[in-house]
Amino acid sequence: MLLSYDLHSHSSASDGSLEPAELVSFAHQQGVNVLALTDHDITAGITEARYAAEKLGMQLIAGVEISVLWRKQTLHILGLNIDHDNETLQAGLAKIRQARAVRAIEIGKRLEKAGVSDAYEQAKAISNGENVTRTHFAKVIIDSGFAKDMKQVFKRYLVQGKPGYVAGEWAEMPEALEWIKNAGGISVIAHPARYRLSATKMRLMIEEFMSAGGQGIEVISGSHSQDESQRIAALARQYSLLASRGSDFHDPAIPYINMKTLPPLPSGLTPIWESW
Ligand code: AMP
Ligand code: MN
Ligand code: MN
Ligand code: MN
Repeated sequence: MLLSYDLHSHSSASDGSLEPAELVSFAHQQGVNVLALTDHDITAGITEARYAAEKLGMQLIAGVEISVLWRKQTLHILGLNIDHDNETLQAGLAKIRQARAVRAIEIGKRLEKAGVSDAYEQAKAISNGENVTRTHFAKVIIDSGFAKDMKQVFKRYLVQGKPGYVAGEWAEMPEALEWIKNAGGISVIAHPARYRLSATKMRLMIEEFMSAGGQGIEVISGSHSQDESQRIAALARQYSLLASRGSDFHDPAIPYINMKTLPPLPSGLTPIWESW
């Protein structure tokens, strides 16, 4: 049987709307056989997700999506097939969550000035408590009536140059790769087309990623267009990077990111799961 792999997803341990066990059961309904849980900078959902997956005859890959700074730009690096008990990895993630906590307070202050009262308290209350993301602030701003949907709220409040934007003090790329390697995992550049890098900068980023020991790239992503996937597939072939496929699922209410309609990997690529 051909297995269906989804190697990028979020639970309520970070900014997903479903509890880890609910996420696994949702993925099962969508026909996914192998799911990676890759919450932002935290692995707290993995034990619950793995237990739920075993009961459904699915395979759960332990993962994490690490927030990284590369030349002042935020990038996301996935660590797949990690030992989530690894101390080096956990110490690194704890440091990023600390930076997140500081940033969240600052975002709250700025949103307060923009008229959104108790933004920090509310965002913290709908998060798991120790991992407040912009997604949580987005929900609070919408519920307070300042924006109509996710797209609008990010554009008006949460991206660079807008009232609720605060840069995060994330990990350096080689540092994050080292944590993942230490935990026995494989590093993957998440949704590369999302960063709006020029062709030259994209190559530079890939080359620095590879010289720091990075091995994989997300070719198929819920946030890539068909053209973008083809462009990234060409880079994966050229650089002999392992190809990954993930929906980046957060919420069943977001209709454009769908586990079921995610395309297969294009031909001529080495799937990252081949060695598993
Ligand atoms: P943070 O890591 O706290 O900066 O939050 C980033 C998260 O916000 C991403 O992982 C997405 O889930 C979400 N996000 C970023 N930009 C958008 C957008 N334009 N629309 C919807 N969600 C977004
Ligand atoms: Mn997210
Ligand atoms: Mn991401
Ligand atoms: Mn993600």
